[in-house]
Amino acid sequence: MDQAAQAKKGKAIIIGGSMGGLFAGNLLLRAGWQAEIHERVPGPLSDRGAGIVTHQELLHALKLAGATVDETLGVSIPSRVTFDRQGRSIAELPYEQLLTAWSRLLGVLEDAFPARHYHHGKALARIEQDADSVTAFFEDGTQATGDLLVGADGIRSATRAQAMPGIEPVYAGYVAWRGLVEESELGPQAHEALMERFAFYLPPNEQILTYPVAGRANATSKGARRINFVWYRPADEETELRRLQTDASGRHHAGGIPPTAIRPDVLDEVRKAATDTLPPVFAEVVHKTPLLFFQPIFDLECERMAAGRVALLGDAAFVARPHSGMGVTKAAYDALELTEALGSEAGIHQALARYQAERGRFGRSIVGHARNMGACMLANPRSAHEREMARRYRDPGPLMRETAVSLRYLKLDQPGSTTATASTRP
Ligand SMILES: Cc1cc2nc3c(=O)[nH]c(=O)nc-3n(C[C@H](O)[C@H](O)[C@H](O)COP(=O)(O)OP(=O)(O)OC[C@H]3O[C@@H](n4cnc5c(N)ncnc54)[C@H](O)[C@@H]3O)c2cc1C
Repeated sequence: MDQAAQAKKGKAIIIGGSMGGLFAGNLLLRAGWQAEIHERVPGPLSDRGAGIVTHQELLHALKLAGATVDETLGVSIPSRVTFDRQGRSIAELPYEQLLTAWSRLLGVLEDAFPARHYHHGKALARIEQDADSVTAFFEDGTQATGDLLVGADGIRSATRAQAMPGIEPVYAGYVAWRGLVEESELGPQAHEALMERFAFYLPPNEQILTYPVAGRANATSKGARRINFVWYRPADEETELRRLQTDASGRHHAGGIPPTAIRPDVLDEVRKAATDTLPPVFAEVVHKTPLLFFQPIFDLECERMAAGRVALLGDAAFVARPHSGMGVTKAAYDALELTEALGSEAGIHQALARYQAERGRFGRSIVGHARNMGACMLANPRSAHEREMARRYRDPGPLMRETAVSLRYLKLDQPGSTTATASTRP
């Protein structure tokens, strides 16, 4: 589309150039907007996510965003399994799924977006808006003015802090230890048990899951893949989390410790816990992980997703715990709904009102569902509902049927139900 046609639709200033920002940029650009992405990180984004599970809904959104979706996107598996402490299968579930890597997904979205409209090293400092326009001021002293500002700047969103102050993430009480191991490093038993399926084990108040993902240079052929794991472990915020996030020099990284700053004694403890509590095939994966790291788990809910000419999207607006495996898909459909509302409503304010109503409803549902799934990590459930959810998701049946599945298999207005064929938009 030429510049004149784009100018007719308007100019969108997008803050944050990760999954949500790239979905918004690609979709708005294809709908005739001038879309400019402003990302705080000066160079290429680091691989912050390891494995990412996909759903049909996500693949559909990727195609609409102009990304190439083919068999090289990830590794396909046919089923799920839960093991006991000895590594024997205690429950299985046929469930086909494509598993990809955060960097791979980011790559296909980046390829679809013109590099000249992606601006690195632009950290949002503040926003000003009036009846006709909105302006982003960046920390490097530059600014950008447009008709719409999209805050896709993640869980600690500076856009949210400016436009809807006072909304903060709430720590869930546990962390996710994560890592990747080359398929070729696995012994025959671990390879046999883990490489062709999604596998779970449930130590008391913990949960570990593994699945295969693409290997180096996005290789998906057998022998060249990797195994990805996520191991949820409780960590009290004031004591254990603080200890985990303190580096060897004594500095406490309250906003998240970089993987390379995690103390060697903390890593040794986690490896020992793997030996002491996990089936040998899972323990082997933890031991062989070259870069072991953790992410604290949070909930975030926003009462408002729009303020004037500003809209929030993705993790900036709602963060559902990773049990739902829905973070990227949610960001994608936020961007899709925003683009559609802008295309069919009379003006930006009407479009943002529709966007907020639709996506706010979905955001609250998925956060609630994922919170229910996380109840089994609580040492002391605080209510009858939490106790019921903890019981429910310690059962491999509901756990495997609802962890990171397509929304077709969830009934989000009744979190915990699995039997529905609801077609809620993700
Ligand atoms: C353990 C774990 C496992 C997960 N597994 C899955 C999964 O299997 N499937 C799935 O779909 N999701 C998964 N997720 C969630 C998923 O990673 C997120 O939902 C997704 O990355 C959100 O994308 P986003 O673009 O909204 O935010 P982010 O990816 O956080 O991106 C925000 C961007 O904004 C930039 N930024 C921040 N501040 C500023 C500023 N002031 N100015 C400019 N730019 C700024 C940041 O640098 C960043 O690039 C998982 C999450 C965790 C923690």
